[in-house]
Amino acid sequence: MLAPPVQRLVTELGKLPGIGNRTAQRLAFHILRTSPQDANALADAIRDVKEKITLCEVCFNLAEGPRCTICADERRDPALICVVEEPGDVIPIERTHEYRGRYHVLGGALSPIDGVEPGDLKIAQLYARIAGAEEPVSEVVLATNPTTTGEATALHIATALRERAPDVTVTRLASGLPIGSDLEYADEVTLGRALSGRRAL
Ligand SMILES: [Zn+2]
Repeated sequence: MLAPPVQRLVTELGKLPGIGNRTAQRLAFHILRTSPQDANALADAIRDVKEKITLCEVCFNLAEGPRCTICADERRDPALICVVEEPGDVIPIERTHEYRGRYHVLGGALSPIDGVEPGDLKIAQLYARIAGAEEPVSEVVLATNPTTTGEATALHIATALRERAPDVTVTRLASGLPIGSDLEYADEVTLGRALSGRRAL
């Protein structure tokens, strides 16, 4: 029914999370109606992030260049590392203004059922980073999601760190976060409280 180029756009938009076929069609027709400048700006923005954004060589957060803005910021405390699952989890923690340390982005959570093993995440890189740190790391905050896989990941890392880096205090976000939900949906007041009330594991 649709001209092939339109159908192609609908198909591509439909691959986005949370976008069903009807929404994809609506968005495609919206893009058809917009000015060439606006449509090109969208296409350019997509191309740009794919070309320019890489993972930070230190913490695996998104970065333009070898290091992310947080790792490049000398004012951020290198003795404190907050471990999160995805780059998107850094944003809600930053919004709380409760945290002045660095991050480590795992790239997911352990889930043996889905075939996600420790080697698939940046876990070894975390241990290497702690072992090789110029300024010693004093605390690792495990801020993985309060889900089954997030909890399993936190437990796995806490157990390993107790052996590998006994001098490092390992903490977990305090309860109060909605169980089973993702960090990125937590409001900043709740997340700020969870951060300031973090407890040793
Ligand atoms: Zn970084």
